[in-house]
Amino acid sequence: MPSPDRLPEASSLWLLRLLRDIQLAQFYQPILEELNVTRPEHFDFVRPEDLDGIGMGRPAQRRLAEALKKHRSGLKSKNWVYKILGGLAPEQKETNSAPDSPLFLPEPEGGLKCLIPDSAVCRGELLGSGCFGVVHRGLWTLPSGQSVPVAVKSLRVGPEGPVGTELGDFLREVSVMMNLEHPHVLRLHGLVLGQPLQMVMELAPLGSLHARLTAPAPTPPLPVALLCLFLRQLAGAMAYLGARGLVHRDLATRNLLLASPRTVKVADFGLVRPLRGARGRYVMGGPRPIPYAWCAPESLRQGAFSSASDVWMFGVTLWEMFSGGKEPWAGVPPYLILQRLEQDRARLPRPPLCSRALYALALRCWAPHPADRPSFSYLEGLLQEAWPPEGRCVQDVMEPGALRMQSGDPITIIEGRDRGKANLRDLPPARAQRRNRNVPLQRMKVISKSLESVLSLGPRPTGGGSSPPELRHARAVPQGPPGLPSWTPFASSPSQPSQPPRERAPWPKREPPHSQPSGAPAAGKATVPSGGLLPDPELQRRVTEVELSVHGVTHQECRAALRATGGDVVSAIRNLKVDQLYHLSSRSRADCQRILEHYQWDLSAASRYVLARP
Ligand code: AMP
Repeated sequence: MPSPDRLPEASSLWLLRLLRDIQLAQFYQPILEELNVTRPEHFDFVRPEDLDGIGMGRPAQRRLAEALKKHRSGLKSKNWVYKILGGLAPEQKETNSAPDSPLFLPEPEGGLKCLIPDSAVCRGELLGSGCFGVVHRGLWTLPSGQSVPVAVKSLRVGPEGPVGTELGDFLREVSVMMNLEHPHVLRLHGLVLGQPLQMVMELAPLGSLHARLTAPAPTPPLPVALLCLFLRQLAGAMAYLGARGLVHRDLATRNLLLASPRTVKVADFGLVRPLRGARGRYVMGGPRPIPYAWCAPESLRQGAFSSASDVWMFGVTLWEMFSGGKEPWAGVPPYLILQRLEQDRARLPRPPLCSRALYALALRCWAPHPADRPSFSYLEGLLQEAWPPEGRCVQDVMEPGALRMQSGDPITIIEGRDRGKANLRDLPPARAQRRNRNVPLQRMKVISKSLESVLSLGPRPTGGGSSPPELRHARAVPQGPPGLPSWTPFASSPSQPSQPPRERAPWPKREPPHSQPSGAPAAGKATVPSGGLLPDPELQRRVTEVELSVHGVTHQECRAALRATGGDVVSAIRNLKVDQLYHLSSRSRADCQRILEHYQWDLSAASRYVLARP
């Protein structure tokens, strides 16, 4: 290896300085010579795997990314990819939170598995169904042979291919999740570019919090102290999302998953949007389904969402948690909810298990004016203050009319003054179970009206899973309140970058056979006229070659692609890659081709690029 102390070229002095500043000077020569980086913008095309290849560890890579960011913010450079593609997407310009280059994507330990081969994921039992399709438990086999339990979310595909809005939301969820890293935010491992598209996510083995809250006896209710812990975890995760310029818009216990008995994680990022402008708001440009009963008045009235409207939803989620998963505003038609909130100044009532202090906190979240609501980071502190005192019973309580308790039983004091009565709740599971028989948690009996608005995306696959049946049924077209736009599902809007429905394009199509490109596998030129047949073993060999070169394509697609290019393997591979990228993004085929050319036909790198810039 060349000595790091060799005299640097004047043109690459900046690199040496930058590396020295972060104590990584030993990588100067490998970066220069093996990765051919001589200018800051060249790092846009360096992938973490490349840095792995020169022996740079992940912490060092993060340091390098930080240093480059600083260096480049001084330079205000515009790299040539931006020039070709017209710069960042508008929301990325406004939020300042999106990564600048593939290098800046935060990577989970072991590297971001942006594209995962279909064969590495084995799907098992159905866990639930959501807006885009179904979620299965799965096993993901890493290249090392290690198996990791995962959840696999598959995009629902109709006979015509995925529906445009759903594909857009699905891809938006992928691109949002790719950039998130927080202990209470569900992690995305990668994407399978097959048919259907699949997201491979961290598994939350205990399912949704809503399902747990509404589980029938003999499952014991969740202790109050644990609910308070979940609230703090949630406030932390939401503060993190807000700091990244994102608004969740669908905060509810159905979207909180239990990764362990004492850990919740925020999931379902399909409705997440970047906050825009000085006021940090996202205003819906047209009718789309939203979860009425969880929404702040300004969201219902004007379609305006912000961190403050997420805080309102946090208050409703708190209410759900202390009501045993009851539905907010059950029985109130969606179009009356806004009137109840604004004209009648009505608020959800205090659930019996919710202390006055916590209810006061929920009321603050439901302040009419967004500016009067606490921020999530402030809420974290408020929750600390509202934490119900915990202790242990010091002697047996046998008084008639009071709860029977034994010395040593753990207790949570919901209201301090009224000692000894039904305010002592936190009992060990066996006791809680006994009590639960007398006071069973009330289960939802009515079909949710307000949920219709968020779930009415047409027929869903049926089946088991942990989402409550009520949610699976509530899929009728929502009715808009008087004075509001009619919330028609599927209607797109100019401000929402949802794509028009895109069918999987029919084969064959695209570019004609061409000469051998650099970076693509070598193959013989076609020896048969277009549409003609190759001898079977030779055709088979070429199909296999194409299949192995393009992630997520089927045997039939490879055959069709070869037929379209008269047997030219290289063209078939390129065409299929363009198609895969096209289906993954809202860009034109020409753009996809340019991006792929830039990445020397590395589909994984190109996918990473487009997913980071939805
Ligand atoms: P979604 O499409 O995200 O709304 O998910 C639908 C349902 O699938 C959820 O309500 C959960 O019950 C289940 N689910 C989703 N993601 C996971 C996960 N990562 N681990 C376990 N269950 C999940």
